[in-house]
Amino acid sequence: MFNLSRTDPEVFRALKAEIERQTGQLEMIASENFVSEAVMEAEGSVFMNKYAEGYPGKRYYGGCVNMDTVEELAISRLNRLFRSEYANVQPHSGSQANMAVYFSALKPGDTILSMNLAHGGHLSHGSPVSFSGRLFNIVHYGVSRETETIDYDQVADLARKHKPKLIISGASSYPRTIDFAAFRSISSEVGALHMTDMAHIAGLVAAGCHPSPIPHADFVTSTTHKTLRGPRGGFILSDTKYGKMINSQIFPGIQGGPLMNIIASKAVAFKEALGDDFRAYQQQVVTNTRILAETLTSNGFRLVSGGSDNHLVLVDLSGKNLTGAEAEHVLEQAGITVNKNSIPFDTQPPTVTSGVRIGTPAVTTRGLKEKEMEEIGGHIAELLTAPRDAGLISRVQGRIREICREFPLYGDRLRRYEECSVSTGG
Ligand code: PLP
Repeated sequence: MFNLSRTDPEVFRALKAEIERQTGQLEMIASENFVSEAVMEAEGSVFMNKYAEGYPGKRYYGGCVNMDTVEELAISRLNRLFRSEYANVQPHSGSQANMAVYFSALKPGDTILSMNLAHGGHLSHGSPVSFSGRLFNIVHYGVSRETETIDYDQVADLARKHKPKLIISGASSYPRTIDFAAFRSISSEVGALHMTDMAHIAGLVAAGCHPSPIPHADFVTSTTHKTLRGPRGGFILSDTKYGKMINSQIFPGIQGGPLMNIIASKAVAFKEALGDDFRAYQQQVVTNTRILAETLTSNGFRLVSGGSDNHLVLVDLSGKNLTGAEAEHVLEQAGITVNKNSIPFDTQPPTVTSGVRIGTPAVTTRGLKEKEMEEIGGHIAELLTAPRDAGLISRVQGRIREICREFPLYGDRLRRYEECSVSTGG
């Protein structure tokens, strides 16, 4: 980082502060993770200099031989990872992967049946503030009031009534296993296509810790940066028969040149995900979430749906005289980063909410296991029980710092950045 610190001390200072933040606190936002040094090396490489519009072997620019190599590696590894026939690794993000599928399968005005954002769905599944809600006719299903799990009878009833062209399974804040076979059978009954957005659980699916949507969906979209632990980006999987259509919707349909440095780093992340260590990591993510859920429950906190099968819990604070926004704030003060999150049937607006979403993928990457999760769950419970106790906040903050030192991240990067600062005055 010597060059950056000399050329742009302001950006360098922000970078140093960010590595301090990431290494010195516990990241428990369910959609975040820490990539490996190898993934970062591929992303911060000369691959970023190259235009490569088109696809391997069919580019609109010269000099793409090495681009073809990395994109082919990414595609073949991804297909091996999920046992899929066709993959497109060019989507710049999860939202763009979804957009490309909608534009492949639908015409503007067609009906999509998807999960309500307020019950755990995602903005790009038809929220009125997203392109998806503006261009298509959206019908939402949700969770049942009693179980707070997806109401498959409601999905079937709505599908029969509204005859959607596309049914979407997949969610952003849903702590339970999703029954993709049930979505397939409802879609087949009403003649709809079925798309799964597995952004949150892709890593769990890759490792066999969540059933795979591949046999049950016409299209599977995902991000690469959540449980899958790759760079920020997206991908689409499908049957070969849809490949040509999806390729042309990504480029030239909605994107220009692919981000080849990101595609190279996706290839690296997919290679890592094919390894045995990755399976053990995902199993630990699920175990850590279970311990966290048990600890919070035994400390008197109610979890949406009563627990978790995956990488996140959704804590209902409505009986605790505390909003999600307040909870997010007190946890951040103590060095634990989470996000406020609506709970099903929430009476608070999305800027306030009655819940917090807590995930374990990033702390598990750091090496935290059952013992630490039990301790951290206890600290979270203490803080949310006495959110205005300054002494408690500072005590917990001290302990979180110790845990972070015990489970270091990114080796001696921070020390090297500090040396750069000294040598350049940055
Ligand atoms: N789909 C789901 C289920 C998500 O949770 C997210 C991100 O949180 C996305 C899509 C969007 O991904 P991106 O932020 O890369 O557009």
